[in-house]
Amino acid sequence: METIIDSNVIIEPRWNLDNSYTTLPEAFYQSQKPTPVALPELVILNESLAESLGLEVDELKSEEGIEILAGNKLPEGSIPISQAYAGHQFGYFTMLGDGRAVLLGEQIKPQGGRYDIQLKGSGRTPYSRGGDGRAALGPMLREYIISEAMNALRIPTTRTLAVVKTGEDIVRDTRQPGAVMTRVAISHIRVGTFEYAAQWGSFEDLRELAEYSLERHFPDVESDGNPYLHLLQEVIKNQADLIAKWQLVGFVHGVMNTDNMTISGETIDYGPCAFMDTYDPETVFSSIDTHGRYAYGNQPYIAAWNLARLASALTPLLHNNQDQAVKLAEEAISNFNDLYKSNWLRGMLAKLGLFHKEEEDETLIQELLDIMHKHHADYTNTFRSLTIERPEDTVLFGTEEFTKWYEKWQNRLDKQEEPRDLAYQLMRNSNPSVIPRNHRVEEALEAAVKDGDYSVMKRLLDVLANPFAYSEKQDEYTRIPEASSCRYRTYCGT
Ligand code: AMP
Ligand code: MG
Repeated sequence: METIIDSNVIIEPRWNLDNSYTTLPEAFYQSQKPTPVALPELVILNESLAESLGLEVDELKSEEGIEILAGNKLPEGSIPISQAYAGHQFGYFTMLGDGRAVLLGEQIKPQGGRYDIQLKGSGRTPYSRGGDGRAALGPMLREYIISEAMNALRIPTTRTLAVVKTGEDIVRDTRQPGAVMTRVAISHIRVGTFEYAAQWGSFEDLRELAEYSLERHFPDVESDGNPYLHLLQEVIKNQADLIAKWQLVGFVHGVMNTDNMTISGETIDYGPCAFMDTYDPETVFSSIDTHGRYAYGNQPYIAAWNLARLASALTPLLHNNQDQAVKLAEEAISNFNDLYKSNWLRGMLAKLGLFHKEEEDETLIQELLDIMHKHHADYTNTFRSLTIERPEDTVLFGTEEFTKWYEKWQNRLDKQEEPRDLAYQLMRNSNPSVIPRNHRVEEALEAAVKDGDYSVMKRLLDVLANPFAYSEKQDEYTRIPEASSCRYRTYCGT
């Protein structure tokens, strides 16, 4: 079946698109329409997200709405483009760009706010290199589940508006059903976008990207300061906040290349990511991360390394004098560790029901982590057991170290002014009872992709939508599989 894109067709799902990215110099993008697909079928729509974007759910579900979500028609006001960027992938610098994505435009929400609407898996682009420009259904549904879980865990993230089956098979290791996903982001500007400008753009290109980013993300810059230093500092703050949140819930991104790090501080690119079960800083899921570069415990260091790449790209803007510029960049980067550490510490204190930091608290936290590591305790469930006052549920129970630690912690709780019930309330609000466990995610994907049964995924999404609820229906989702999923492997070829 041949479908023709006609950008003049006016459709009404209250799309309210702007295209501010196209005001940047042409080096930053290429005009690119999505490639039409054979037989679009909407498999999942994020209705609450649609509503918050000012989009009409029924319209999106209509034939025309689905044609838009599949890339067969353009919504009114769209100027479709693919974005150029570069990136350090596993430490090596390379030219990249949207190889399988098209930015339809920026949806302006009724209550204000600008959100990129991007189709992923929408066909080849000038940046596709050897790729087919397409995406498989399983990985797109996986991104839907995990990004929704992250959002519910109050972690900044891009989100998924919809997944549409294309009716076309694609070839990976095996033949798989193809899909197009609609990704919603505060923006898709990456550390790699700045690296691209610094490497291949003019000074003016770099300056315009920095100005655009400031205006879009950090508009409250002081006029008498150094705006570009401010930009760097704000991105560092965003990332120090984000990475601490990842660590606190045991999220392993898996592919923290600089093209997968946003300047907005949203988590982006759910390829080989997964949540850690057993506490181990060396946890790696990605099959291609053979040296553990992106292991759980390395994430803060890698974030700092990536931010140093951003700082380096921005140096020409920081000061006329190169030495001064480098000094400013280094000072900004050296702040990351302190910012990260204090965010993480605050989060850890809350996980233990502590309102204010005392001298001995860092040791208290580290001791617990060490005991968990030694006894292969489940990260999420250990904190959950402490929260619901059932220490006997953890594998640590009965060990001498844990008995001692528990007593120490109880004494520490007694010492603080805030009453116990408030402390446990704080813990309930800080320790998720459910996370998207790998075996549960796989089970949901298998039912959806193999059998076309989306009920398992919907139930999982329902439970993950309120990770701090501690409701009865969540209980079965807290169980870990028999042989734990520590050997769980994730793959990049999505
Ligand atoms: P990722 O590993 O998803 O961050 O992707 C790295 C780069 O490869 C980005 O430039 C992607 O656009 C590109 N890419 C990934 N998959 C494909 C594909 N199937 N076809 C074309 N480009 C792709
Ligand atoms: Mg990427």
